[in-house]
Amino acid sequence: MESYDVVVVGAGLAGLQVSRLLAENDLRILLIDRKASLTRGVHTTGIFVRRTLEDFALPDDCLGPIVRDVTLYSPGRRKLDLQSAHAEFRVGRMPQLYERFRDDAIRAGVDWMPATQFVESAQCNSRSLLTLKRSNAAVCVSTRYLVGADGATSGVAAALDLDENRELIVGLEEVLEHVPLQGAPRFHCFLDPRVAPGYLAWAVHDGHQVHIGVGGYPARFDPVVALKKFRASLEGILDLSHASMVERRGGRIPVGGVLRRIANARGLLLGDAAGAVSPLTAGGLDPCMRLSKFAAEVIVDYLRTEKPEALSAYSGDLFRARFVSRLWMRRGLATVRSPKTIEVACALMRAPLLRSFAHHVFFGRGSFPDLGARTLSPTRGLNSSAACELD
Ligand SMILES: Cc1cc2nc3c(=O)[nH]c(=O)nc-3n(C[C@H](O)[C@H](O)[C@H](O)COP(=O)(O)OP(=O)(O)OC[C@H]3O[C@@H](n4cnc5c(N)ncnc54)[C@H](O)[C@@H]3O)c2cc1C
Repeated sequence: MESYDVVVVGAGLAGLQVSRLLAENDLRILLIDRKASLTRGVHTTGIFVRRTLEDFALPDDCLGPIVRDVTLYSPGRRKLDLQSAHAEFRVGRMPQLYERFRDDAIRAGVDWMPATQFVESAQCNSRSLLTLKRSNAAVCVSTRYLVGADGATSGVAAALDLDENRELIVGLEEVLEHVPLQGAPRFHCFLDPRVAPGYLAWAVHDGHQVHIGVGGYPARFDPVVALKKFRASLEGILDLSHASMVERRGGRIPVGGVLRRIANARGLLLGDAAGAVSPLTAGGLDPCMRLSKFAAEVIVDYLRTEKPEALSAYSGDLFRARFVSRLWMRRGLATVRSPKTIEVACALMRAPLLRSFAHHVFFGRGSFPDLGARTLSPTRGLNSSAACELD
């Protein structure tokens, strides 16, 4: 039976990052994903925010052009234009980015096993014996530590007896080609509970393709119907006359805030599995990058010292304190169901005082937990002086 220091389940952004960082610290790492190809079944739009772009060296050729302009539309399609002086967003070319990160991880020494599903874990003295499924056959491996980077409905969370996400919205988008980019790239956001109950609908050009999507609470809408309706309503905003759909992306997004119990002596959770998504904006890519860096530090420390105290900083309880205002705003968004109420709120946001609030929501750099200043060695591809915060 193969034996590892750490097995990472899930090769999304969080799993890819943490495995490379751990391998760079001379640990024996296995990274598995149930997908056969990382370019298939991508479920994110891939909008990276300024703090991520500034703090992490993402490969430039995997990113679309800089987006500084946002238009926020009310249900009645009244507009609020916001502009940032900074390079605020860039849409990641996610299939290429995942493959690049996977290649970096393999170069760092990670054993990569695609088309492999995590099934269960059993404890045996100080190690975990994992049952994996590959080509319909069971494969057993042994590991000192297990990392669940397996997304919003994590099976590893249940296997480790850690917390699981309970509040989830769903997002669905179409990626379209042959849509001309008119003027500067712009992030169009639509507050409209008829197509996006409790969240947003969006349209954004990544320089090559256009992403058009809707998100909301699954009990309150049919995302397929809502997306069709939303797309049909975009005339005058985007020229979709020659558009052809190349991909459909979708998935669940945890919006209940970071879970409380996300680590124990056998393993820990990362990214969506840990609920590390901004409850307000539902952005999870920046938390993936920050939390995986911190998790790698904690795991290296724990495996070197074998002291449980090394895990104490990796606590959702500690992180949650910084999510309080966003959790309240999430509750507000979830409660308001009437287009008229949202129309009034949007009118207020066009007034100077609340306009700066809207500016803050879209362009603010947030102030989520300081996850420690320790740095890994070497930190290839990471800015080690980066403030370690989640947003
Ligand atoms: C439609 C949509 C649009 C979004 N847009 C944005 C955005 O623009 N910006 C932003 O910041 N956030 C966005 N998000 C959120 C963001 O995409 C996620 O927070 C982020 O991708 C989570 O990454 P992750 O690595 O934690 O998990 P994932 O990317 O979900 O990766 C988990 C991996 O685990 C694998 N896996 C699961 N179970 C098993 C198993 N049992 N065995 C083996 N492998 C397994 C899966 O195949 C998957 O590859 C969006 C989400 C959705 C749904």
